[in-house]
Amino acid sequence: SLNMSDEVKKAQEAAELAADGSPPTIFDNIISGKWDSDKIHEDDLCLAFRDITPQAPVHFLVIPKNRDGLTQLSKAREDQKELLGHLMYVAQMLGQKECPDGFRVTVNDGKDGAQSVYHLHLHVMGGRQMAWPPG
Ligand code: IMP
Repeated sequence: SLNMSDEVKKAQEAAELAADGSPPTIFDNIISGKWDSDKIHEDDLCLAFRDITPQAPVHFLVIPKNRDGLTQLSKAREDQKELLGHLMYVAQMLGQKECPDGFRVTVNDGKDGAQSVYHLHLHVMGGRQMAWPPG
């Protein structure tokens, strides 16, 4: 309603963002615009923005706007295959634009994958010769 306080609105937004049962992450603040980010792409399904701690001259993240349980890749459901394909498609579209000589797409999953933010994200890194194996 019109006189709903900002606090109530914020609480409702937070509840909505956590509707999949996991606590919100910093990426929710980036999606909502509450926190600044260096956005390079946005469409109905996803957002791409530069990583705050770049590991290569080009390093950006592609994330679904609606987490919907995708706290990590290994939580993917069959009905999310199209979304996952879209994220991958956008990653390569932006990747080849910024890194014509090639790039790397990485998803860190869980503890052993060294995941730190529990909102699915594809890392796209390039602009230099990447090494293999990774650490
Ligand atoms: P993970 O380790 O695969 O979960 O990657 C999380 C990534 O998010 C890291 O590379 C961080 O540098 C990045 N990150 C964390 N907070 C922010 C932010 O506020 N803006 C942009 N990138 C962020």
